[in-house]
Amino acid sequence: MGDAQTLLETRRHQMFPHLDDHDVARLKRFGEIRHFPNGTLIMKTGEVAPGLVLIEKGEVDVRQGGAISSGAAIVQHGPGHFLGELAQLSDRPALVDAKALGDVEAIVIPARRLRDVLVQEAELGERLMRALILRRVGLLQLGQAGPILIGPLGSADMLRLENFLRRNGHPHRALDSNNDGCAQTLLKRFTIQPEHLPIVLCPGGQILRNPSEADLARCIGLLKPIDPDFVYDTAIVGAGPAGLAAAVYAASEGLSVLVLDCRSFGGQAGASARIENYLGFPTGISGLALMARAYNQAQKFGAEIAIPDEAQLLEDPDHRGYQIKLGNSETVSARSIVLAGGARYRRLDIANLSDFEGTCVHYWASAVETRLCAGQDVVLCGAGNSAGQATVFLAGKVNKLWMVVRGRDLESSMSQYLIDRIRGLPNVEVLLRTEICGLEGSEGSLQRVHWKHRDTGQETSHVVGHVFSFIGAEPNTEWLGASGIHLDGNGFVVTGANGSHALATNCAGIFAVGDIRCGSVKRVAAAVGEGSGVVSAVHAYLAERRAAQEQKAAAE
Ligand SMILES: Cc1cc2nc3c(=O)[nH]c(=O)nc-3n(C[C@H](O)[C@H](O)[C@H](O)COP(=O)(O)OP(=O)(O)OC[C@H]3O[C@@H](n4cnc5c(N)ncnc54)[C@H](O)[C@@H]3O)c2cc1C
Repeated sequence: MGDAQTLLETRRHQMFPHLDDHDVARLKRFGEIRHFPNGTLIMKTGEVAPGLVLIEKGEVDVRQGGAISSGAAIVQHGPGHFLGELAQLSDRPALVDAKALGDVEAIVIPARRLRDVLVQEAELGERLMRALILRRVGLLQLGQAGPILIGPLGSADMLRLENFLRRNGHPHRALDSNNDGCAQTLLKRFTIQPEHLPIVLCPGGQILRNPSEADLARCIGLLKPIDPDFVYDTAIVGAGPAGLAAAVYAASEGLSVLVLDCRSFGGQAGASARIENYLGFPTGISGLALMARAYNQAQKFGAEIAIPDEAQLLEDPDHRGYQIKLGNSETVSARSIVLAGGARYRRLDIANLSDFEGTCVHYWASAVETRLCAGQDVVLCGAGNSAGQATVFLAGKVNKLWMVVRGRDLESSMSQYLIDRIRGLPNVEVLLRTEICGLEGSEGSLQRVHWKHRDTGQETSHVVGHVFSFIGAEPNTEWLGASGIHLDGNGFVVTGANGSHALATNCAGIFAVGDIRCGSVKRVAAAVGEGSGVVSAVHAYLAERRAAQEQKAAAE
């Protein structure tokens, strides 16, 4: 039984709950009654749907849609059931087709009002939110909705696009252009030359040739243009745990919020195979699952999220508000800024490293990477908790894992529970005082890895096709160079100087939270705490600013 089938069997009643007359009466005030004659396509794959559609009379057929789809049936809804999944929470394009079977009468609740339902109707809102999330999980597991990626599996660009969609929780299918008959038929049909691979077939029918993540996101409706005239109460740079926590608290307290992230939601935490020390999750939780909850929660409260959008320049041109210039030439205006850009992985100091990055040298250990190295021998370098988690995760999938550690022990950098677990893994060999000194291979394919003992200089090499690198991180602050914000000698943002708020930078109205901040504890809980806590300082700043403006206006 497939994962999607299992989910359907075990949680059908939560995924497709029946709402009684009392529930329907409560929902009526949030929407409007609409009639859909027999045959109307109420939701069309690739197009923004009118909202959540609660059926009062008639039947609706939901099936896979899009330009290239088998049109397989998903579910049929009748009175008391509703159409919708997470896309309808933020006006993103629908992932399925829904067609009226006979005349249908329904209450249509647009995205903005749906968010009001979730906040104002606590118990009913919980049931709806759970259903929306489970339906998205079902579509992800079904692997039959969303864009179709076609290209050589394991190639750098296929991995780049697959990882982008996976880390942003967007359903998709990846077909191998070398071995998949369906992929080859599609390539012939669209006369695609091998040099244009990978291609993406979007649900709306567009074909993208080796697109950037931003072009793909725009095509599938994940990324929308930013209104240049709107001034947000706060713009948050970074959608890791610190940024998402700030977004949840700021949006739930009525501030207008925009969150920018250049890669995906979840930051480093989203890359963690299993977080076991985050309060409230005694059995542990995958970083992506934890962060997906936070991402949905932020959207529920109305935070706008733009991914992938990179902040490149921060200015205060007229001293009346901040402007962030984005990589795509758009500009964001905001009264206050929360810097939550965290840190990015450090790279190994090996001359030909870039020849293998994206194909055989990995900075994440997820299902995508394990598919490439299952049953093989791999090397992992690093000795922090992230290295430990990745080792535990990978050990169950690979033949042998060499853990290359520069230091004399694991105890000084890794939590004891991970050390104990690693010691119990028969196929993991920990090499202390060791570092990688060479990579051998050709055309992006790694064949052999060399390492040497740091004290004796003794060199060893093995046939290894994949290296996982978890050797720490540096702050994402280069883009702040010209902003006037004080950074410490290592590039971290300095806060709390001269008795100011602990999370305030030297520029009024600009705050820093999480790993990007000098002196922060590099943990998910600490980042979440700072992100939640900064919002009271943002409120205080905005109130002061308003008062000063009113005073000035009165004086003029
Ligand atoms: C593999 C791994 C496993 C871990 N496991 C654990 C664990 O088990 N427990 C624990 O407590 N901690 C763990 N950590 C540490 C924890 O994940 C971090 O401390 C935490 O994620 C920091 O959160 P943050 O929001 O400050 O920054 P980050 O998580 O780094 O997020 C920052 C975000 O900002 C974005 N960004 C950066 N610059 C820009 C820009 N200019 N424009 C737009 N966006 C930008 C990035 O793309 C990123 O998404 C782990 C870290 C890693 C790497």
